[in-house]
Formats: sequence, structure tokens, C-alpha cells
Amino acid sequence: MISLGIRGVPAFNIDGEIIVGFDKERILSKIDFNITSCHNCNKRMKYPKGKGTLLLTCPNCGTKYKVKS
Ligand SMILES: [Zn+2]
Repeated sequence: MISLGIRGVPAFNIDGEIIVGFDKERILSKIDFNITSCHNCNKRMKYPKGKGTLLLTCPNCGTKYKVKS
């Protein structure tokens, strides 16, 4: 999650959608996943939470690696 701080109001860019302020339900509905970066090319990827250990494949370069969700 990236804090944008637009005009002093908390704003978050979550998966490409800008959410301004603390609309908690909308934010929580968007963050039932984690974000990781590819170890090889640094492309950001998201994966669901609470699924145990996942094997991710980078859509950009095809690198595979495990994450704990
Ligand atoms: Zn990659």
C-alpha cells in the first residue's frame, strides 16, 4: 500500500484504485491479499492471504518462488 497524502488527506493507492480518507470497509475489502515483489525483476504481484505457503510465478519473467500468506 502506498500512502499518497493528497492535500493532507490520507489516501491510498490499492491495486490501482485511489481511496481517499479512512473508509475502513472499502480498504479492508481491498486488502485481503498481500503484495510482494519479484526477486528477479521486481514486478509487484499480489497473492491472497491465509492460504499457507504459495508458489508464485512472476507473470513478467517467469521466476517461481514461495511466499507465506
Ligand atoms: Zn519477475
